[in-house]
Amino acid sequence: MDNKQLWDSVLVEIETGVSKANFSTWFKNTRIVKQDGGTVVVGVPNEFVKEWLSSKYDRLLLKTLRDISEGVRGIEYAVVSLSSKGTEKPVLPTNNQSTYAPELPLNDLYINREDNLNPRYTFENMVIGSFNELAHAASQAVTKHPGHAYNPLFIHGGTGLGKTHIAQAIGNHIKNSKTGKKIYYITSEKFAIDYINSINDRRMNEFKEKYRKYDVFIMDDIQFLAGKDKSQEELFHLFNALYENNKQIIFTSDKHPNYIHGLEERLKSRFGAGMIVDIITPEYESRMAIIRHKLNSSNFSLGNEIVSFIAESIECSVREMEGVINSIICQSRFKNRELSLNEIKLLIKNNIIPKKTASIKDVIRVVSEFYNIEESNLFEKTRKKEIVKPRQIAMYILREDFNVSYPTIGEKFGGRDHTTVIHSCDKVKNSIKTNAALTDELEQIRALL
Ligand code: ADP
Ligand code: MG
Repeated sequence: MDNKQLWDSVLVEIETGVSKANFSTWFKNTRIVKQDGGTVVVGVPNEFVKEWLSSKYDRLLLKTLRDISEGVRGIEYAVVSLSSKGTEKPVLPTNNQSTYAPELPLNDLYINREDNLNPRYTFENMVIGSFNELAHAASQAVTKHPGHAYNPLFIHGGTGLGKTHIAQAIGNHIKNSKTGKKIYYITSEKFAIDYINSINDRRMNEFKEKYRKYDVFIMDDIQFLAGKDKSQEELFHLFNALYENNKQIIFTSDKHPNYIHGLEERLKSRFGAGMIVDIITPEYESRMAIIRHKLNSSNFSLGNEIVSFIAESIECSVREMEGVINSIICQSRFKNRELSLNEIKLLIKNNIIPKKTASIKDVIRVVSEFYNIEESNLFEKTRKKEIVKPRQIAMYILREDFNVSYPTIGEKFGGRDHTTVIHSCDKVKNSIKTNAALTDELEQIRALL
């Protein structure tokens, strides 16, 4: 195995256990520079990454390296210029410490290689609110009667809303119930890689056997199989084999299966045969509860004003909330004092990718352009048909494709009540069943987004 292959295998392992944000912040532009005796020298883009990796991830990296290559005894980190590798840019400028959102990765060490479960994901440390209660209830039912309650269970929702957490919590719960059930968690990307490697190495029988022996099979982020026809075919056969034997299957995705373009119809219809639940963006009260929960579990406290400020600023991702809280904790410990509200505002501004606000704005712009009306028309309190329809469509898209909660949509559309929003979305949902022209329009609008 050469340096690149070795490091790629290490990164694939690491990626399963850390959040995407963490992974791209700390591991993206790293590589093995050389191996010297038993020492692996890891090249990193700057001092900041060097310090972070050596203090927080050293044990995990060493363990992962050793699992793959027995002779490894130690790791050294060296700042190397990446220009020799072409276009790569360092991920983090060393002088800008306020933009990082570290997540304390202590438990990453304990990911079990047999089942890929990380014990930190449990139902007990999950906040339940109206945004995820359906997914939670369905998951609980699955843990009580695996293979019989809802099969498959399909959980969809935007990034950072707890899909991986809840899917792994099901696995951990069944594992801890000591019924001897064999559980396996894998991302769809890793599944596709494993599939291709087995073909190349002529290990297809082994591959098939391995995946068919599980009682509970969890595949995370199925949307990444879009367009990968061969892997989808393999998954289809695996699905049937497991399903026929009453094995529990759990999928997660960032979208409803019907909206995953490039996913085979027969897979979609299999998914539809079980239970499809979504996790939406948490409303204000749930956001407050999540923040308090995260602070509690870090033994840290913040004033009510600050907690509600964070809850107001971050709407769309629990992961971003965690990132901000961890940054606040790190900085206050570093400065050895409480941060002021202004410092926290700055930190949030630097940490948050204004993804969803951009999305909401985009939907409003695209929909009004499509129907040839002014954006402001959408917010008017009017019953004119040429305005009502675009407004309902915009609401429907925000709800279905962007997982924005009903109350938030109501707020954005001029303080409408959430029941009005539900009514609008249901109206569109019902019309598309019979109105092919409307389905067409929706497709065109979605293509513009
Ligand atoms: P997704 O898979 O949907 O992108 P994750 O499951 O990775 O999101 O969740 C992102 C982070 O937020 C994780 O650290 C997870 O533990 C945390 N998290 C998500 N939902 C909750 C919740 N309801 N309560 C507490 N923590 C949560
Ligand atoms: Mg995930």
